[in-house]
Amino acid sequence: MLQRRELFPHVIEMNHQARRRMGCCVYLVYDRDEWLLIDIGYEETVREIIDMIRKMDFPLSRCTHLVATHADADHIQGLKLAKDLLPGSRTVGHPLAKTALAEADRILTYAEIPAQGISIDLPRIELDQTIDEGDVLEVGGTRLEVWHTPGHTQSQLAFRLGDLLFSGDNIFRDGCVGNIDAHHGSDIADFITSLERIRDSDVKWLLPSHGPAFAKDDRVLQATIDRLEKYQHMADFGTCAVDWPLLDEWEAELSQRSPAETAARS
Ligand SMILES: [Zn+2]
Repeated sequence: MLQRRELFPHVIEMNHQARRRMGCCVYLVYDRDEWLLIDIGYEETVREIIDMIRKMDFPLSRCTHLVATHADADHIQGLKLAKDLLPGSRTVGHPLAKTALAEADRILTYAEIPAQGISIDLPRIELDQTIDEGDVLEVGGTRLEVWHTPGHTQSQLAFRLGDLLFSGDNIFRDGCVGNIDAHHGSDIADFITSLERIRDSDVKWLLPSHGPAFAKDDRVLQATIDRLEKYQHMADFGTCAVDWPLLDEWEAELSQRSPAETAARS
């Protein structure tokens, strides 16, 4: 038997369990003999992860849910294989993730980034059930509250378990956020609203989808919110920005005589 390395009571993270970085965070939440997984990562690590779970003495038949925090390939490419290996479980995610996965949408899921030569296999995945804001996932006697936290992508979910928030790609320990990209359905205003919700909550710990878990620090959250506020007015973020004040300044200047014209006429 493999010794369970609990991150928090009822919570094991599989990279932490393996003591090495395998991919995105894969959280195992359990109560009594029931358990679920939040994200599964790439297909190539699925068998190893399930083997570790079996060696930790979790009955494979008691996996209740395979949860997709959102539809990005690095989080869910292995979902179909995991479902095949854990046929008693239900695959769940946001309605927009269900559509992206059913269509195997290669752009929205980042399976294909042609300009960077990135192209990976993505099987079509039919989620068994959609979940959204206010829903509850039950595992044993434990309840995970579903939060819809759009911004990084419109299908992004987070899950609250007592003092813990499985926070997806909303924010990482260094204050970075899940990437902002028009093709990914990112929305900076929604992102700010999601981060404000996390800041204003009485959650104590954030368990992100990449990197280590960390104590919620409102100053770090505020610095990130302030940064994203600036992004809304920067050309760097293209169509994800809401405006670009330089163009307004330019328009005002265009209606006036330029310094060069004034000099030429004098
Ligand atoms: Zn991610």
